[in-house]
Amino acid sequence: MSDCIFCKIVAGELSSHKVYEDDETLAFLDIHPVQPGHTLVVPKRHAKNIFEISPENWASVAETVRRVAIALERGTGAHGVNIMMNNREYAGQVVEHAHVHLIPRFKGDGLTLWPHGTYKEGEAEEMKRKIAAQF
Ligand code: AMP
Ligand code: ZN
Repeated sequence: MSDCIFCKIVAGELSSHKVYEDDETLAFLDIHPVQPGHTLVVPKRHAKNIFEISPENWASVAETVRRVAIALERGTGAHGVNIMMNNREYAGQVVEHAHVHLIPRFKGDGLTLWPHGTYKEGEAEEMKRKIAAQF
């Protein structure tokens, strides 16, 4: 994809702070970190999101995420790591090249995640049925 910024980073046409690379994947620092050390893992082969990536490429990304999580925690002295992926515009995806965010977390860092809700009567059962029926 010639106009994709992450393909350009993979190709070395745009600079990045690379933390890890193998044949299928690349990990580099997010340019606008939620916390210092915030890292992105991408497949080298362009795929828009989780819905388009091949099972083989996803398996490679997942293994790199696992390895980077360990390095990130050790390297930054973090007390935990959030792993997150935005898929499609309405889920907050801005860059349309699949990527997984790894964010180091520290005791008392004050970051808050999503608020939690509760299910109405019968709603959890209905949700479970709708999702499970897709397999
Ligand atoms: P998302 O909202 O999940 O699509 O996240 C895209 C992320 O890519 C954002 O956190 C950006 O800060 C990050 N980003 C955009 N351009 C670059 C770049 N050239 N190098 C590193 N990270 C980038
Ligand atoms: Zn791309």
